[in-house]
Amino acid sequence: MPQTRCYYEILSVEKAASQDDIKRAYRRQAMKWHPDRNPGNADAEVEFKACAEAYEVLSDPERRQLYDRHGHAGLRQNPVHDFRSRDVSDIFSMFNDIFGQQAGGRGQRGPARGYDLETEVEIELTDAFAGCEREVEFKRLDVCEPCSGSGAKPGSKPSSCPVCGGHGQVAQTGFGGMFRMVTTCPECRGRKQVITEKCEKCRGQGRVATKRKLGIRIPQGISDGQVIRLSGEGEPPPPEVSAEGKGQRGDLHVVVRVADDERFVERRGADLVMVQPMAFAQAALGATVKVQGIDGKDVDLVIPPGSQHGDAVVVERAGMTELQSKERGDLHVVLQLVVPKKLTDDQRRLLAEYAQTERLDVHAGESSFWKKINPFGG
Ligand SMILES: [Zn+2]
Ligand SMILES: [Zn+2]
Repeated sequence: MPQTRCYYEILSVEKAASQDDIKRAYRRQAMKWHPDRNPGNADAEVEFKACAEAYEVLSDPERRQLYDRHGHAGLRQNPVHDFRSRDVSDIFSMFNDIFGQQAGGRGQRGPARGYDLETEVEIELTDAFAGCEREVEFKRLDVCEPCSGSGAKPGSKPSSCPVCGGHGQVAQTGFGGMFRMVTTCPECRGRKQVITEKCEKCRGQGRVATKRKLGIRIPQGISDGQVIRLSGEGEPPPPEVSAEGKGQRGDLHVVVRVADDERFVERRGADLVMVQPMAFAQAALGATVKVQGIDGKDVDLVIPPGSQHGDAVVVERAGMTELQSKERGDLHVVLQLVVPKKLTDDQRRLLAEYAQTERLDVHAGESSFWKKINPFGG
């Protein structure tokens, strides 16, 4: 029986999420619920497998469309894997491209490499403009020190697995001997050895979840969703590949989220867009007004005489910084004509005089409008 929960909820993504977002969300959730990181928590494995199933559907455009249209019923013709009966490390090797090349270990070529991890950091638009430094905190599985990753109580030794004879895999014959299927040994979970006396710190896992803090430098001009890769800050190769974690660590991917800035309605690459209110007199006569730029400094904005509502004025090189460049984008200012809601007597008189020069029919006198509609006077 596959899942009945909403796949988007399982992966915590929006229905409109892109394929990249789904991939990232899956990696994040799978790492969060990986049973090795949640020792003694049976729900974690269930959740981990639910994530694999959700990802299998949402990462396939055809299946995703069926699911979007008809929900779980839409997938009956095109069933998903039943991940609940699968081994966790099999799930990892199924989605190798997500967890980093060669992660998971079996059948690999080249040196062993650990899993890539992912975390997020949110910064302000002004930080993206200037570049900044941030501290990120994340959890990763590191080699357990007391047992050096073996999982065995210090002083004791793991013994060769009696079920697979130390191969880590067992062969099953099916269909009257027509097929020979090799699967991960259920006893040692592919680790080739079994532990007779468990290390107290890691409860025999050989790995412990460790919190790590890192300072990262975020370059100026970075955009929302861009990723900073910190090479070698991921996990050591998993215990079934190397108990001591020998080989290359995976990488840490830091996804940078840039918050919206209320001063700017849009960012288009290195260009910024803002809306600037403009009075009728400024629009008609022209004016130079100051607006606050992204760098905090005032920018002189020249409103040409005869400007119309919705006109855009471009201030060159007053936009965002560009990534890996000393250039700056432009600031596009959209002018918005604002009509005053209240006028003083003098202003009203002057405007009425102005209207006369254009022979316009206006309500000129003070409160005359109210006098006309209010029978009790005012
Ligand atoms: Zn075994
Ligand atoms: Zn240990």
